[in-house]
Amino acid sequence: MSYFKTCPHCGAHLDPGEVCDCRNEENAAAGIASTNGGEDGTD
Ligand SMILES: [Zn+2]
Repeated sequence: MSYFKTCPHCGAHLDPGEVCDCRNEENAAAGIASTNGGEDGTD
């Protein structure tokens, strides 16, 4: 069972209702790609 969501974009574990930082344009502009530890590099 999972008590968290998994971001479909970066695979990060999120609390229920939480929006992942990778969906935040401000954070994306800050260079989120450098902090992306997921294995999905198709984005
Ligand atoms: Zn994400």
